[in-house]
Amino acid sequence: MGIHLLPEDVASRIAAGEVVERPASVVKELVENSLDAGASRIEVETRDGGVALVRVRDDGEGIPSAEAALAFRRHATSKLTTAADLERIRTLGFRGEALASIAAVSCVTCTTRYLEEEIGIRLRIEGGSLVSRAPVGRPPGTELVVEDLFYNVPARRKFLHTARTERRHIDAFLTRYAIAYPTVAFLLVHDGREILRTAGTGNARETLAAVYGPDLGRSLLEIPPDLTEQQDIRITGFVGPPTVHRANRGYMTLFVNGRWIEDVRLSYAIVQAYHTLLPVKRYPVAFVMVNLPSEAVDVNVHPAKAEVRFRDPDTVFRAVQRAVRTTVIGTAPAAHTWTTERSPTETQTQRERLAQLQPAQSPLTFAPTHASPAASSLGPPQGGATDIHLQDASPPSPREATTSSPPRQGLPALPPLRVIGQLATLYIIAEGPDGLYLIDQHAAHERVLYERMRAQALRGDIGSQPLLQPVVVSLPQTTGERLAEVLPLLKHLGLEAEVFGPATYLVRTVPAHMTHTDPASLLTDMLEALDEGPESPNMIQTELEERLIRRICKRAAVKAGQVLSQEEMARLIRDLEATENPRTCPHGRPTIVQIPTAALARQFNRDS
Ligand code: ADP
Ligand code: MG
Repeated sequence: MGIHLLPEDVASRIAAGEVVERPASVVKELVENSLDAGASRIEVETRDGGVALVRVRDDGEGIPSAEAALAFRRHATSKLTTAADLERIRTLGFRGEALASIAAVSCVTCTTRYLEEEIGIRLRIEGGSLVSRAPVGRPPGTELVVEDLFYNVPARRKFLHTARTERRHIDAFLTRYAIAYPTVAFLLVHDGREILRTAGTGNARETLAAVYGPDLGRSLLEIPPDLTEQQDIRITGFVGPPTVHRANRGYMTLFVNGRWIEDVRLSYAIVQAYHTLLPVKRYPVAFVMVNLPSEAVDVNVHPAKAEVRFRDPDTVFRAVQRAVRTTVIGTAPAAHTWTTERSPTETQTQRERLAQLQPAQSPLTFAPTHASPAASSLGPPQGGATDIHLQDASPPSPREATTSSPPRQGLPALPPLRVIGQLATLYIIAEGPDGLYLIDQHAAHERVLYERMRAQALRGDIGSQPLLQPVVVSLPQTTGERLAEVLPLLKHLGLEAEVFGPATYLVRTVPAHMTHTDPASLLTDMLEALDEGPESPNMIQTELEERLIRRICKRAAVKAGQVLSQEEMARLIRDLEATENPRTCPHGRPTIVQIPTAALARQFNRDS
């Protein structure tokens, strides 16, 4: 095949691919156009995840009827004329590509009336060709209906994910813009169901509550104005207190000059601002908006305009870090002191404190009998009968501890260990046949609970504990809906809840080990677990179940900072011995660190 120029329709479909990757890109481009048109109301409706239909309606200035057809030509824009204009872009759009790209790969109906004209116009464009135009009466503003996305690009259509995944991308986009533009009223409807509605009254907190749920929305801290030294960089937004953190970076959002962007460095600036305030591998919730002169930032980096380049990246980095840090520090709770000493006289108060922490139902639900690993992990839970009550647990004899766990073939069984004490209310110190052993109490308990719960799930008999009063939990509007799909699975895991409203659930029971945990954080955990892995339509149920179980056990396990009695520690170690994989927690971190006697001898310059 000789070299030749591509026919126009092929070239435009290739170009369209860069702008329109998925239904959410259509929503993004259309909503950006509405914002550029000065809309105060923007309504978005989708069907079938946006593949069948995306409708965006606004009350902006509209398009003059003589120019409407032109708007669908490539490089047609009203937003810039000269190359110099590229240096100071104040609109979200500027490339003049979006409408052309969308129209090339779908069927578009555009109805618009320009502010200064008496009558509007309706255009129908199929696969990039104008098929009809007619005058219409309507109020000023624009409505774009995009149908049958990628109907003429089968390769692209094949790679679209489930409607649910596409809806999530759309939700992610629109909720963020709703927060960033509090004076615009947004409405989002999927398949006839209202997902998000904001009032547009300018109250960002109201919008935050609508998006993140009332509790999280309320807990976010507003970045005070005038925190930045530089006159021309303004940082605004909301950040979570250190007590609020998430398992992934997905809860950090950055806007630059009104545009949602991805920026690894600035995300890092936010994480840095929380340095030492968050647990390891946890990420903050933050919504940070950077405003700076349009000359100081180049938005013309990427067709989807999702990246920007700063003229002076270091200054922006410092400004963000400083604003977030100051906001967070201003409110951080004082560090709490740990009990590291245990003296006999202290025991009583520690017990009392423990009893307060876990009234009646202790999270330390180690099985009381320990005949064999199988019996221990497979024995049915008998309501609260398996709970150890701290006071009446009898100290296990060392013999019991060593004989309880017959070594399994081929498995790295734990040696018999004798508990010496607790270190930093986090590690159990134990003596074994070859030296000193440090056991991470949280990781070890996670492992024990995980294997027990998994075995129970397999047999379908995870115990559940009814709450005295059913609890109503409101989750963020957009993501909260997802939980409805897994309610049967959650019930199987002992967490019984029912839909009580949009993204609101009535929790009736919690898993047997979980009576001390508040149902709201449990449901949030479950949501996070849903988000944890890659979303694949054919993900098998058990994978998801595993993820949920891991999450429940993480929540249920004894925490760092919790004082354990000698008996509790001994029991934990025996239960750990009984597990199949005693040496790692369900997330793969080690549960045990050993310091061999020989290593100690070396440290003491002894020739052992
Ligand atoms: P760009 O936004 O980069 O200019 P688009 O292809 O997205 O390019 O849009 C082309 C032009 O159509 C815009 O410059 C604008 O003049 C007009 N336009 C598009 N959508 C709207 C809308 N919702 N309201 C008013 N004008 C619009
Ligand atoms: Mg545009």
